[in-house]
This record gives sequence, structure tokens and C-alpha cells, in this order.
Amino acid sequence: MDSLVRRAAYELARSKHAIALTGAGMSTESGIPDFRGPQGIWTTDKKAEAEAYRRYQLFRDDARAYWEEMLGLRGTYRAFYEEIRKAEPNPGHYALADLEALGVLKCLITQNIDGLHRKAGNRRVLEYHGSVDALRCISCGARIARSQVCLEELPPLCRCGAALKYDVVHFGEPIPPDVMTASEEEALRCDLMFVCGTSAVVYPFAGLPGIARSGARASLLGLSVISRRPGVTIIEVNADPTPLTREGVSDYLIRGKTGEILPGIVEEAKRACSALAAENDPLLRDKAGEEHRRQG
Ligand code: NAD
Repeated sequence: MDSLVRRAAYELARSKHAIALTGAGMSTESGIPDFRGPQGIWTTDKKAEAEAYRRYQLFRDDARAYWEEMLGLRGTYRAFYEEIRKAEPNPGHYALADLEALGVLKCLITQNIDGLHRKAGNRRVLEYHGSVDALRCISCGARIARSQVCLEELPPLCRCGAALKYDVVHFGEPIPPDVMTASEEEALRCDLMFVCGTSAVVYPFAGLPGIARSGARASLLGLSVISRRPGVTIIEVNADPTPLTREGVSDYLIRGKTGEILPGIVEEAKRACSALAAENDPLLRDKAGEEHRRQG
């Protein structure tokens, strides 16, 4: 395991455009349950899955009824949103923020709706499934901070006159085109993709590693025999193997908890970055050589 951690750190340090993809597993150590892990809300409450699938259609059919349901949530989902509101980032989130501050991580694309990556300090974040902190208009695409919307009269309305919904993307709802395009572009551009805490079964998000691997946009995947784009490394950090592991889309899996594994990788990546900088910088290299000769 340690050798995989060192390998990941070295590959990160050498990368030109590393990006991270994250899922619900990142936040279980912050107390927010995932959906499909052993304590996941769908694993423990079978009705919750069916409920999630009908929510987008409810908004389309009757926006007022949707809002009444969202504001009056009971049971599983009420507890879920309460956990999200009080959650704080864990060492895994902070490690990814450090990796961005180090200049290694260029973009983070998350399925999480909890805002914990931004809270930890990541700046370039694409929230693929939206955020609990915003409302969105599916007609004109505008997003508005939840704190700026009055929810006394339902449904809340956008400036364009259409009903607003939560920014959170419900099952069956199309991914907002701005985020989808930006995420595909990042997947096509990256030379290293770090996939953390996701079961990689929710599409189209789970298709992003395939896009990075093949260099083909989502619209082309499955239509032809896709070749492997050279020079791309895909590393998973997850509690369990996923379809990406089994189908050979990822190069390797570092198995365990993101809150325990990511800080170690990032510390090692910092050392690897300094060593590479010393190798590439003639001044630093001469200094290191001088030091070496003095000591030796
Ligand atoms: P998922 O529940 O399908 O899978 C989570 C994966 O993470 C599983 O493979 C599990 O074994 C692994 N895992 C759990 N804890 C881990 C840990 N500490 N370290 C490493 N791995 C761990 O989650 P998903 O793939 O993100 O898909 C679920 C969907 O539900 C997403 O669309 C997401 O929007 C939503 N969701 C979000 C949150 C959140 O915002 N925190 C929470 C639950 C669900």
C-alpha cells in the first residue's frame, strides 16, 4: 500500500494538469452518509431510493408541491440534510485543498452537494450535482444563493418568471449544461485524474474517467472502438473496488478511507514536488550538490 501511495504522490508531482473527481465517500468521515456504502441511506432505507427518483418529475408537474415536500422533509432525508448543514470538512477535504494550493490540482469536480470542498479551501470546484446552498432556474440557468431567496411564498420565482428549484440535481434531471461542458473539457485536458470516494455508477458523472482515458467526448463513447489516450493516469482512492477498477479504466486503486489516505499522499507529493523542483532548477540543484559534497 505504501508503495502505491508513493507512486501516486510522484505521479501527481510530475503531472501537468491533475484534476480530482469526488463522491459521497469523501464526506462519510464528516458524518454525512453516502447512498450505497454499508451504512448508506439507500442501503438502510429501501424506500428512500424510489423517493429520490420521483422528485424531479414532481417539480415539473407541480413546483409548489415540490417545495412543500422539500421544506417539510421527514425521516431519512430530513436527517440527511441536517447532517449536511452541520458538517465540517475532514482531513481528506483539507488534503485536496492543500493539493490545489500547491499548484498541483487544477480543478475538482464533485458529485457532492454539501459544499465541503469549498469550505476546506478549494477554489476551482465544479459542483456536478449542484449545491444545497443555491437555487437554480431550469429555464434560464440562473443560480441564486439560498440565503437570498424568500421561501414564504411557494414556489419561489426566478427573475425570468419561471419557478426556481434547488440547485441540487435530482435523479432523472439533466446535468446543467455549463457544468457538464466544463467537466468534459477538464476530463479531456487532464493528464492525471484522481477519483476519490465514489462508487462510479451514477452517470453521466461516472463516464468522466472514460472520457479522460479515451479522449472521446461522452457523445462518442460506445459508438466506436475507443483507443486509450497516451499519457493519462487514473488513480482511485476508495473503500471498495468499483466498475472503473474492474473494467481497467483506472490504473490502480488505493483501498481505504479518503480521510486517512489522502493526507499521506499529499504530504508525499509535497516532498516529491520539492525534489523535482531541485532537479529542474540549476541553482537549487547546484546548492543540493554543494550540500551533498559538504556532507560527504
Ligand atoms: P455512493 O454512495 O454511490 O458511493 C460511495 C462510495 O464511497 C462507495 O464505493 C463507498 O464504498 C465509498 N466510501 C464510503 N466511505 C468512504 C471513505 N471514508 N473513504 C473512501 N471511500 C468511501 O456515492 P456517489 O458515487 O457519490 O454517488 C451518490 C450520489 O449521491 C451522488 O450523485 C451525490 O450527489 C449524492 N450524495 C451526495 C452526498 C454528499 O453531498 N455528501 C451524500 C450522499 C449522496
